[in-house]
Amino acid sequence: MTNKYMYFIANWKMFGDLRTLNTLNKVIIFTKKIKKNKFKLIYCPPSTLICPLAKTLKKTSIEVGAQNCHESENYGPYTGQINSKMLKSVGAKYVILGHSENRLSGESDKLINLKITAAIKAGLKVIFCIGESLSEKRKKVTKKILAKQIKNGLNKIKNKKRILIAYEPFWAIGSGLIPKESELFETIDYIKSKARGSKVLYGGSVNLKNINNLKNINNLDGFLIGGASQVSNNFIDIIKKTYN
Ligand code: PEP
Repeated sequence: MTNKYMYFIANWKMFGDLRTLNTLNKVIIFTKKIKKNKFKLIYCPPSTLICPLAKTLKKTSIEVGAQNCHESENYGPYTGQINSKMLKSVGAKYVILGHSENRLSGESDKLINLKITAAIKAGLKVIFCIGESLSEKRKKVTKKILAKQIKNGLNKIKNKKRILIAYEPFWAIGSGLIPKESELFETIDYIKSKARGSKVLYGGSVNLKNINNLKNINNLDGFLIGGASQVSNNFIDIIKKTYN
């Protein structure tokens, strides 16, 4: 049971179309019934849905984020890319950066740092993902990896309050596996000591069953949720269980 102000961030990845937005009515009704300031709900849909979703959520407390952005703060000849200014102009307030699915396809700490810098400059808040691979966990170098990702990713970023760090071990994403409670508590404490001022969330296979254990980790500031956020009833029940 917690009474803490928590973030619940939905990462829809490459799922959803205009019809999917209708399913959010349930979530909107749910948030309207809840006492203000209890939690913050943020949806990060694919880029095609940011603008319509921001319009749908205009009169609600739910906010919208993007899943990535280009590192250039200006327009330019970058086919297929979108920068943070463009995201902000269609209603995004947040952007997820450094997600492991993008790190695995070649995003370096340096590139992520450039993206974070541009996003902050454009006025977005950043959901900065960090995490170790399974082999790094087995080699017991998790802290070393996280320290490097934080140092390089947040290089020259002064206002840590605009950064929400999401600790997402690569091996926990979409796998049904989560870290042990004691390990997670220790890792979150470690991240907080390295990025003072930032909120720290957990992400990786959060679901209706394991939320009962995860909610006991009292240094966590919330959750980044992929698969389980795509069905509104599941997402609502995860939030309800966090506070029960
Ligand atoms: C994610 O990809 O950010 C994530 C947390 O995914 P899942 O919840 O599906 O493991």
